[in-house]
Order: sequence, then C-alpha cells, then structure tokens
Amino acid sequence: MTRDVAVLGAGALGATVAFDLAFAGEDADGEDVSVTLFEAGSVADGSTGRAAGVCYNAFAEDVDAELGARAIERFRTFDEVGEFEFHESPYVWLAREGDDDREHAIREQLPRMQQHGVTAVRMERDEFAERFPSVRSDDVAVAAVAGAAGYTTPASYARTLAVLAKRQGADLRQQTPASVDTDPLAVNGEAFDDVVVATGAHTKQVLADAGYSIAMKPYRVQAATYATEYDGPMVYDATDGFYFRPHADGLLVGNGTEEREADPDDYDEDANDGFAESLQARASERTAAIEDARITDAWAGLCTATPDRDPLVGALDDGLYVGTGFQGHGFMRAPAIGESLAEQVLGEADGIEPFDPTRFTGDEEFDVVEGMLVDDR
Ligand SMILES: Cc1cc2nc3c(=O)[nH]c(=O)nc-3n(C[C@H](O)[C@H](O)[C@H](O)COP(=O)(O)OP(=O)(O)OC[C@H]3O[C@@H](n4cnc5c(N)ncnc54)[C@H](O)[C@@H]3O)c2cc1C
Repeated sequence: MTRDVAVLGAGALGATVAFDLAFAGEDADGEDVSVTLFEAGSVADGSTGRAAGVCYNAFAEDVDAELGARAIERFRTFDEVGEFEFHESPYVWLAREGDDDREHAIREQLPRMQQHGVTAVRMERDEFAERFPSVRSDDVAVAAVAGAAGYTTPASYARTLAVLAKRQGADLRQQTPASVDTDPLAVNGEAFDDVVVATGAHTKQVLADAGYSIAMKPYRVQAATYATEYDGPMVYDATDGFYFRPHADGLLVGNGTEEREADPDDYDEDANDGFAESLQARASERTAAIEDARITDAWAGLCTATPDRDPLVGALDDGLYVGTGFQGHGFMRAPAIGESLAEQVLGEADGIEPFDPTRFTGDEEFDVVEGMLVDDR
C-alpha cells in the first residue's frame, strides 16, 4: 500500500512540505509515501519569489522562538546546496527617541526572548554606534541585535527544495493549477489520501472552491532595491516601520504595507508611483549609504493576514491540511513550519497547537493589520 499525498503550491512552504515528505519516504505506520507537488505556474512564482528574504529567530513567544530557531538551523544546513545560499548577518531592530511604546516593547521583549533560548542582546546608543557605524544611531533610544539571522534570495530556497524533493521521487507538476474535491479526497479528479493546501494568497479561494471557509485575507506590501555600497547589518526601524538588508545591488528596503484585502488574481505587482523614492528618503535617515543611490527595482507582492495574526497551519479535516496566514513572516518560518506540517501528515506529530486552523470558523470579521510588529511580537 502507498499513501498518496498531494501538496498544492510550490512556494517556500509547499516545497518544504514536499521535500520533508519525500525524504521521510514512509509514514508513522511504515506505509510508503508518494508525493505530488502541484504548482500553478513555476516554482516560487507566488509571494516567495517577491519576498525580501530577511530571516531571524528574534521572537518573544515560545512557539515563534522555537520555530524561528529551527528554521535558521535548517537554512544553515541547506546553505550552498544547489543554488541556495544563506548569508549570515546580524538583525538589528530599534526604537527612536520619543517612541516610548516601542522602546518599552523592545526592552520588555528581550528577557522573554532570552528565556526561550534566543541569542539576542540589548544595545544602548553608544555601544550601538560603535558596533554598527554604517547605521545612524544619534536618535536611537534602544536597539536589540539577534545573532541567529541572515538573508537569502527566497526563490532559490523554494527551487532548491523542490529539486531535492523531485530527486527523492516527488512528482513535480508545474504549470498545473490544482483544485480540490472532498468526499472522496481528490486533486484535479485524481484520488489522494492527503492533500496539503499551501497556495499562498490563493489558499482562501482554493479552499472555498472545496467548500471550506478560512479566516485569511491577502494584503499588498512593497519593496525596492538600490545600487550602493553597504556593509552593515539588517535593520528594522520599528518607529518608522521599514527594514533594510544588504543586497547584491547594495540595499533592499521594504515596507509599504496596504492594510486592506487584495485580490490575488487582480492586484498591482508594480510598486506605487513614488514608493521607492519616498522609502529612500526615509531610509536615508537610518543609513547614509542609500542617500544618493540609484533605484534598481521596485515591486509589490502579497502577504496573508489572520484575525489573531498567527498563521493557520494544520488539519482542517480528515486528510486535508492548510498552511497560510503568515503575516509577512512566512518565508523565514517556512523551513520549520513545513517540516512540522509534514510530520503531522505522516502521523508523527500533532501539529502546532496555537496555529490550529480550526480555531476560527472562517466567518470572522477582521481588519488587515500588519503582522508581527515590534509592539506585539
Ligand atoms: C515584498 C515582500 C517582502 C517579504 N519579505 C519577507 C521576509 O523578508 N521574510 C519573510 O519571512 N517573509 C517575507 N514576506 C512574506 C513571504 O513572501 C510569504 O510569507 C511566503 O513567501 C509565503 O510562502 P508560501 O509558500 O506560503 O506562499 P507562496 O510563495 O505564495 O506560494 C504559493 C504557491 O502556490 C501557487 N498556487 C496558487 N494557486 C495554486 C493552485 N490553484 N494550484 C497550484 N498552485 C497554486 C502559486 O503560484 C505559488 O507559487 C514578504 C512578502 C513580500 C510580498
């Protein structure tokens, strides 16, 4: 007997699930597992291909810290496998003078992070200035630095994991939009024992077509790259709400979140007019490296929100699993969340309890709120 598992969506999450299922080879009962990975376009065509690739484990909640740490561990393991490269880089987050709420949040989170094994330290202004001279520090009230952090090109991760899954026997079907039928469970009319829906911003639609309602809304975010020389850390300026990281061109800067539901089949993939210019002016207040830099690219993509800003990961029904709602932090957690989801499918683990997708009915009214900000992390 073989257990046939379909994974829908070859972004960072789906590619990880397919990889872990294919490498496990059998489930908890010793039954052989056969994996089919369906992708509507090409691998990483969705949000993964548009993500900034900032990765860290600096979370104050125990479940987030554990998943963040496991994900960094796996990124490091996959470094230089195929085209994937993980660049180690400290992650700094800071609050400016006068922003008392965020300053307090950072000071309060640090001990909780440390309790959960996160290697993160607080830095007062002078120490920060000395350690990171390429980042402006004279207006900084408090900063924190996480060491288990780095950046990558997200598409290279998904492509590498999909290739590894394929080499391990998974059937990768690109240019194959998939739809799910239940009773009996099937994808595009083909019977499967288990189906994992990891179709990113399309997950709500794919599940609605199968008769399931989930509490998730896609929303649009933006990023841009600039040609410059920058040798500093990754930075999140919590007071102004933007981040940047080193990039092959020089710097990648992001924010531009639109806190309203977007249509995954009809949203503007280009950045708004003037977005890259205004972000450049704001980021110039944090590093002089960007001041006169040339804009090399600017784009938009979709993130997914939930009512409590925690993801929806796990079983929706017998044999039907979902993974979505990552609030802008889905790439950095995909190696760990995908691994956990694969273990749940195989019957080896119960899943991540706080992320249980059935905690919502799917009919909840909620506003899109940018996720996992410093105030609530
Ligand atoms: C500008 C920007 C910056 C970001 N920066 C970061 C960051 O620095 N760090 C971080 O952690 N996160 C970041 N994110 C969020 C991150 O991109 C997502 O959380 C993550 O990529 C989600 O991965 P996924 O595999 O769940 O979804 P996706 O990558 O969207 O993958 C879903 C896949 O499913 C496919 N699909 C859709 N419908 C179907 C169907 N019917 N059948 C088959 N396949 C289908 C799509 O083509 C797609 O390839 C950013 C997002 C954006 C837009």
